[in-house]
Amino acid sequence: MKNIAVIGAGTMGNGIAHTFAQSGFKVQLIDLSEANLKRGMDTISKNLDRMVSKEKISEDDKKATLDNITTFTDITAGVKDANLVVEAATENIDLKLKIFKQLDEACRKDAILASNTSSISITQIGAVTSRPDMVIGMHFMNPVPIMKLVEIIRGYNTSDEVTKTIMELSKTLGKVPTEVNDYPGFVANRILMPMLNESIETLYNGVAGVEEIDTVMKLGMAHPMGPLQLADFIGLDVCLSILNVMYDGFKNPKYAPCPLLVNMVRAGKLGVKSGEGFYDYSESRKAEHVAKQFRK
Ligand code: NAD
Repeated sequence: MKNIAVIGAGTMGNGIAHTFAQSGFKVQLIDLSEANLKRGMDTISKNLDRMVSKEKISEDDKKATLDNITTFTDITAGVKDANLVVEAATENIDLKLKIFKQLDEACRKDAILASNTSSISITQIGAVTSRPDMVIGMHFMNPVPIMKLVEIIRGYNTSDEVTKTIMELSKTLGKVPTEVNDYPGFVANRILMPMLNESIETLYNGVAGVEEIDTVMKLGMAHPMGPLQLADFIGLDVCLSILNVMYDGFKNPKYAPCPLLVNMVRAGKLGVKSGEGFYDYSESRKAEHVAKQFRK
C-alpha cells in the first residue's frame, strides 16, 4: 500500500487524509471544488500546527505530511493509481452507490474500496461493484487524527484477505481496528444511538432537564460528555438519520426516533452546526427554554 485516495475533504475526509499522510502514505484528496479542498487542507494545516505547538510532531513532520497530500477535483484522475480508496463523501445512499460504481470503473483492478459510512450497508455498496469481495467499511471516529478506534466492517462478500489487509493497515496508522459484521448501525452506532435516543426520550417525558440528564451520565457513569451534548456535537439530523436506518433495517420499535428529536430536526435545530440544539451555541439560549418546557 502506497497510494491512498480519499473521497471528500470534509470533517472526516480531511482527518483521514491527515492521518494517512502523517504515517508516510501518498494521499490523493478528492472533492467537488477547489474551495472545498482548500478548506480541507487549511483544517489539516491548522491541526498539524496544534500538534507542533504541543511538541507531538516537529515542523519537518508537518511539512512532510502536507507534502504527501495532492488534491484533485477530478475523481478519475485522483483514484487511478490508488491501492486503497477511502470514501468519506456526504452520507447519502444514492451518492455513495454512484461513487462506488465510478470507483469500480476508474480504479486499478487490485484496489481495495473502503467507505467511512456511519450507517449505509457495506454489502449494498459492494453489490454495485464488480469486486464486492474487495469492498469494506473503515469507520473512523471524529476527530480522526486523535481517536484510536477504526470499526472495520465486513460486508457479506468481503474476503478474509481484504479484511486482514485493512486490519493490518489500520495498525500502521497507530489505530486500534475492531472487526464487526455488516448489520444496521454496525456496533458503535447500534449501542450509542439508542442511548442518545433514550436520553432525548427521558427529557421528552419530563423526567429531568437537559443539564440534569447530562450531569447524571457524566458524573454517574464517567462519560466525558453528557448524551444530549454529544447528540448536539454529532448533529441531531445525523442522529435521526442513523436511528431511521436502524429502525428500517431491524423493523424493531426500540430504534424508533423520539418525536422530540424529529421535531427539533424539522425546526432546523441541529445542534452545534446550526447554533442551537439541546444547548444554545448562540446568544438567544432558546434551546434551553424549549428543553425546560418538557420538565414537570
Ligand atoms: P462533510 O459534509 O463534512 O463532508 C463531506 C464532503 O464530501 C464535502 O466536502 C462534500 O463536498 C464532499 N463530496 C460530496 N459528494 C462528493 C463527490 N461526489 N466527490 C467528492 N467529494 C464529494 O461530511 P462528514 O461529516 O465528513 O461525513 C463523511 C462521511 O463520514 C459520511 O459517510 C458520514 O456518515 C461518515 N462519518 C461521519 C462522522 C462525523 O462525526 N462527522 C463520523 C464517522 C463517520
